[in-house]
Amino acid sequence: MSAHRRTARLLAAAALASTAAGIHLATFNLWLCVPGLYVAAFLAWCSNRSYAAHRRALAEAKWEQAYVLGQAPAPLNPCCALADHSGGAAHDRRKCTDLFHRLTADLAAEHPRSSQ
Ligand SMILES: [Zn+2]
Repeated sequence: MSAHRRTARLLAAAALASTAAGIHLATFNLWLCVPGLYVAAFLAWCSNRSYAAHRRALAEAKWEQAYVLGQAPAPLNPCCALADHSGGAAHDRRKCTDLFHRLTADLAAEHPRSSQ
């Protein structure tokens, strides 16, 4: 079990507990359920992001395995985390799943104006 999946399950359980606490507090005063449900929604969102990171790690491992075996796997979308955060302006030389971007990542870092 990967760390992302373990974290996602823990956050989902915490969201469920927070929901139960919010519902329990609503029996005393209806407004008391708001903090519990707000925290539950935030924890559920964090759990969803951790599951997404887990799925991405699995896809990258599968891509890397196919690449090492000599196949030509299609690049993932987005090709790498750096491209996702930079809007496609930069790519990770080691982890990018687009082979062309792996080759040109160093050139774009040395000549940033030429990549625009
Ligand atoms: Zn990339």
